[in-house]
Amino acid sequence: SFTAKELKAFLQSVVDTVEENKDYLSELDRKLGDGDHGVTMSIGWQAVQEKLQGELHDEENCGKISITAGRTFLSAVGSTVGPLYATGFLRGGKEVQGKTELSGEDLYNFWNAFIEGIKERGQAEVGDKTMVDTLQPALGTLKLEYEKSGDFTGAFTKAVASAKEGMESTKDLLSKKGRSSRLGERSLGNQDPGATSSYLILSAFESVIT
Ligand code: ADP
Ligand code: MG
Ligand code: MG
Repeated sequence: SFTAKELKAFLQSVVDTVEENKDYLSELDRKLGDGDHGVTMSIGWQAVQEKLQGELHDEENCGKISITAGRTFLSAVGSTVGPLYATGFLRGGKEVQGKTELSGEDLYNFWNAFIEGIKERGQAEVGDKTMVDTLQPALGTLKLEYEKSGDFTGAFTKAVASAKEGMESTKDLLSKKGRSSRLGERSLGNQDPGATSSYLILSAFESVIT
């Protein structure tokens, strides 16, 4: 089953993948924004790693772990993604508050709240060339497949495939939200950095559950 230990392994895996992709994420953001997405994500996730090694080291409450990650990310990060990813982890954490072990249903509720929270916070729609282009198709597939099979792991794996397609779809989109929306036509042809980091986060989770 999925325990607090696995949740922390997931967060650590995000720390690692963000570090590995730091330059790539900033490179994507140089073409569309101010070039800081990799640096921003790294600062935020390094702060989360400090909590994992410190006050969260022996923490068993999955809600507390996720909420602490969200709050830590928010206070460490100044840019647009600070409140967006923070909202995801805060909302997800509320769903699993007090639980030391999570069922498929709990994990489904966590990701549903995570993604709905980000959509509500950022008010972006599919097609605006943001992380929502990765997250929304992932949630659509997760819902459909989980309701059909009741197999969370299988459903999440399919959701990550949809997330990848969504991420790649941002290359051909015109930016409508955030800094890059000022580029107009010049935003075409480049993959959105936030759509990319969202895919990395979902992939990190998949690697922990499979
Ligand atoms: P900043 O633009 O402040 O430098 P980052 O570079 O860290 O922030 O993050 C940029 C990413 O934030 C974009 O690639 C996009 O995916 C995401 N983003 C921007 N605005 C929104 C929004 N309203 N809703 C969802 N995601 C958004
Ligand atoms: Mg930026
Ligand atoms: Mg910035």
